[in-house]
Amino acid sequence: MGSKVRVLVHDIGGCEGCPISVIRALPELVGIADVHSRYLGNEDVSGGVTYDVGIVTGAVCINEPDVVGKLRVIREVSKVLIAYGSCASVGGITRFCRGGQEPRPEHRTYQPVTAVVRVDYAVPGCPPAPTFIASLIKSIVKGGGYFLKLFSAVVKARKLSGFDLLDDVVLPGLCVGCGACILSCPTGALQMIDGKPDLVVEKCIRCGTCYVRCPRASQLLIRRYIQLGGVKG
Ligand code: SF4
Ligand code: SF4
Repeated sequence: MGSKVRVLVHDIGGCEGCPISVIRALPELVGIADVHSRYLGNEDVSGGVTYDVGIVTGAVCINEPDVVGKLRVIREVSKVLIAYGSCASVGGITRFCRGGQEPRPEHRTYQPVTAVVRVDYAVPGCPPAPTFIASLIKSIVKGGGYFLKLFSAVVKARKLSGFDLLDDVVLPGLCVGCGACILSCPTGALQMIDGKPDLVVEKCIRCGTCYVRCPRASQLLIRRYIQLGGVKG
């Protein structure tokens, strides 16, 4: 990569909280990245221009050929592709969408970016903190680090929620009661009961943030997918 990383930020369909989170990080990014986005008026996803890092936010409406086609072009022109935010990485609240069902299969159906094209790193968060994107890009430039292994493993997982946190960490007795999951939850779906988190199920939007913030769950995720192969970073 050259002296500055060429970064494309493209929202494929969502509430736009994630692209705003990246754009808010511009003061931190300006020294290391040359950022292109329609929010900045300098986006080109015609296919003729390449980027070191493509950042796609939002879930993919698979009933929309234009959206799927544009996503495929972004994959082709991006050396590294990041599915950024919960909808893009693990589905998030779009996991509750019930489009595409008979007898009206034309109703809109959503999938995370990780389910539609090859993704290098997937970052849950609703949205991820603006400070986070600069750390991620620096890790990509350096070519390694815990971040990259973890977010490469999330690509393989494709879905993560508070239910998974309970199943994988709390119920097997691996929880150390640190509270990081509770602090990271954007909806207040986790609460501490007798020193361990419990889930208010109707509040969980399946954003996966708690899972990647939990020190025990994130280690499990990396180990699981290293064993299965395919974790990079
Ligand atoms: S419990 Fe909270 S942080 Fe975890 S997936 Fe649900 S909404 Fe997201
Ligand atoms: S972050 Fe993990 S270890 Fe810490 S309280 Fe939550 S489930 Fe337990």
